[in-house]
Amino acid sequence: MLRKLLGKVDDGRFGRALAGLQAGWQWQCEERQDGLVEGYVKHGSKQYMVVIGQRGRRYFARCGCEDAVKRGVLCKHIAFAAMSELGLAAAARSAHRQLPQLGR
Ligand SMILES: [Zn+2]
Repeated sequence: MLRKLLGKVDDGRFGRALAGLQAGWQWQCEERQDGLVEGYVKHGSKQYMVVIGQRGRRYFARCGCEDAVKRGVLCKHIAFAAMSELGLAAAARSAHRQLPQLGR
């Protein structure tokens, strides 16, 4: 699901999320359960709340930034949160732990 969502992020925003990874953006997950992940993307003095969820085979994603709210797009923060969750899930799997899943 998160990979599918990332596939729908446009190239420019995907690139900015990758640059954020390099720049040390933080993903602070507040809630993680099957079908829902919620937390904050933090960089510098800014923080944006991101919610990504799944209902059946459909997903939804929200962010508090202007890009997401005004344009209704999958913004760089949503992309960054999805990348971070994929990274955490992959790390957990390689350590033989299980995180609640949003699907792959
Ligand atoms: Zn955003």
